[in-house]
Amino acid sequence: MSVTETPTIAPTDAVEPMPPLPPEAAERLEAFLQRVQGIAETLIGYPCSQDFDHTNLQPFLRYALNNVGDPFADSIYRENTFEFEREVVAFFQKHLRAPEGLTWGYVTSGGTEGNLYGLYLGRELFPDGVVYYSEHTHYSVAKIVRVLGARSIMIRGRPDGEMDYDDLYETLKLRRDVPPIIMANIGTTMHGAVDDLRTIRAMLADLAITRYYIHADAALSGMILPWVEDPQPFGFDAGVDSVAVSGHKFIGSPIPCGVALAVRRNVDRVARSVEYVGCMDTTIAGSRNALNPLILWCAIQRWGEEGLRRRAQRSLAMADYAVARFRDHGIKAWRHRNSVTVVFPNPGMEIISRWQMAPQRGIAHIITLPHVTQSTVDRLVEQAAECLGASKGGEE
Ligand SMILES: *Cc1c(COP(=O)(O)O)cnc(C)c1O
Repeated sequence: MSVTETPTIAPTDAVEPMPPLPPEAAERLEAFLQRVQGIAETLIGYPCSQDFDHTNLQPFLRYALNNVGDPFADSIYRENTFEFEREVVAFFQKHLRAPEGLTWGYVTSGGTEGNLYGLYLGRELFPDGVVYYSEHTHYSVAKIVRVLGARSIMIRGRPDGEMDYDDLYETLKLRRDVPPIIMANIGTTMHGAVDDLRTIRAMLADLAITRYYIHADAALSGMILPWVEDPQPFGFDAGVDSVAVSGHKFIGSPIPCGVALAVRRNVDRVARSVEYVGCMDTTIAGSRNALNPLILWCAIQRWGEEGLRRRAQRSLAMADYAVARFRDHGIKAWRHRNSVTVVFPNPGMEIISRWQMAPQRGIAHIITLPHVTQSTVDRLVEQAAECLGASKGGEE
């Protein structure tokens, strides 16, 4: 049975333009903008750079851009930014030291999706594998392991944030028959610690484990280590199979994003398994944000390698400045080599909430990304010192 309705609007070539915002709604947005501006200036507790201005991309807000599918394959939907996405991927491949032609990648919605991607490939390669991750691993990983239905073992962490390698070794030794899928932290969220890929691989060799997968979670440090003189091992040349980096952390972006890179041969296995549905469905999401590749591409074009290096140097110098200021007040602050995460004793809830900081047990941290100024550090340190001094009765 079919019903024929009489449309009340006759079809024409005229498309109704989107109505303007009602005045009250426009006022609310304006007030919100003011609030955001205030918050952005003091953001020091989370690793999101704020020194960007992508308002030149405004004209693209009028189009239904969508990067559905594999950026390196043809897509029927051509309103995409694949050509920019491919260049962004190439930039990350170069700086994460991928051997020419042997890796593949795409722009993700952030570090979490990149971690999901890496562990997904690891699990596809070794369906019976066990995921090993340290207790300092980002909270997303425990969730990812559940989503994948993978078996996992949490490895103890050292107080400074690195993996407890003895615990890893003993655990691997007990289950030499099961291929390990190892999550290595290239900059832990709380301490900025880098797990030693050389030590991890030496242990695998020592135990004669030849079937293994290593994923590197390089959310923040993956875009800092390429710009320092003496980086810890962190990229494909250090033997990892996949890497996740966030785009909105060190580089900075108005929309969260990231890049996932992986050894192509492993990606091909996953791609092949869905070829029967007629497309190269290599990404986690179907429809993907097409503005993110433009944002990252513009940032790369505008800063260039030298600009990104300057930003990294400035951030590290600011981290040293913060450590020194804390110590002037008798507070034992510290940072890892090549890290912009400054760790100090938890100053209490008042400072934590005023400065939007992430506490963990007895510690807190600030992250001195390029938008952070000396005067912001000064203010924070003074306020934290007051609270810490008061709680200790003024000693130290
Ligand atoms: C921030 C972070 C993540 C998560 O990244 P998102 O971009 O927020 O999804 C994962 N791992 C580490 C180490 C992080 O610092």
